[in-house]
Amino acid sequence: MDLRLSIGTEGILGLRKVKTDALPTTAYLMLGCRCSNGCMFCPQSNTSRAKENLLSRVVWNKPLQNIWPMIENEFAKGKIQRSCIQVVNKPGIFKILTQEIEMARAYTGVPLCVSGGTGSLEDIDELIGLGVDRVTIALDAGTPEIYRKIKGQDFLKRLELLKKGAEKYPGRIGTHLIVGLGETEEEMIEMIQEMYDRRITAALFAFTPIKGTLMEQMPQPPIDSYRRVRIAHYLIKQKMCRKEDMGFESGRIISLHRPFHQIRELLADGSAFLTSGCPGCNRPYYNEKPGTVLYNYPRKMTREEIERAIEEAGIG
Ligand code: SF4
Repeated sequence: MDLRLSIGTEGILGLRKVKTDALPTTAYLMLGCRCSNGCMFCPQSNTSRAKENLLSRVVWNKPLQNIWPMIENEFAKGKIQRSCIQVVNKPGIFKILTQEIEMARAYTGVPLCVSGGTGSLEDIDELIGLGVDRVTIALDAGTPEIYRKIKGQDFLKRLELLKKGAEKYPGRIGTHLIVGLGETEEEMIEMIQEMYDRRITAALFAFTPIKGTLMEQMPQPPIDSYRRVRIAHYLIKQKMCRKEDMGFESGRIISLHRPFHQIRELLADGSAFLTSGCPGCNRPYYNEKPGTVLYNYPRKMTREEIERAIEEAGIG
């Protein structure tokens, strides 16, 4: 079973020359390849004809050496803040995951999170017991209907696992949500509110069509809509506003809970538009090519970029 590194992670570990304005602040690893699930948007899906070294639009390569001491070095230098193993679902993968975590723990104390690979509360217990800092269980879809249609799985079972995990390990459980799979802004914000009410951290991404997947022809969400959802997400996460305080028309956000000049002040540091998720996660260029409009900013934004992102949201 192979362990791969994202190309940006190879860059921070000095395994490859990478030209970029934003290196990852987390070491991203992918365990396994070619998933047994059929998520329609994912290049790793059993329904995909995409290259096997892709996850979203990022390339993942197999390292030739033990990477854990290298990760420890970069952590000690302050270049990375955590490592993240993204697990591709396959029979027997959980056992291999636990072996890899034991290996990681033998070489490094870097905070470690695991995304995927867990099917029960006992699995979460085992990961936390091995020293995993945070566990992410991706819902991806903003509504149960879209979840069933695009992932072909049991939404309620997944949600139940998230809830149980968050009850037992509050603040250590997260999810991933993909904006633009067919939900309205109101539906996505309802899901985000439910996650934060249950102390589940939500990492938001923009749907990204990948050649070879069943959804390769679907466009990315409009940037104005994505910015509005990110603003609502930020206000909910910071407990500055709840979904019930927002105004919607035909599923689109039309107002927030206070005058727009006040909202502008709350958004002034740009945090609302940075990559969200586990502390230290910036996932550079997962949703966009360098040089194009950034859905999630992986680095500090300039004043002009913050102003533009607020304007793009078109609220107020
Ligand atoms: S939020 Fe980032 S660090 Fe956390 S599981 Fe997701 S990708 Fe990994």
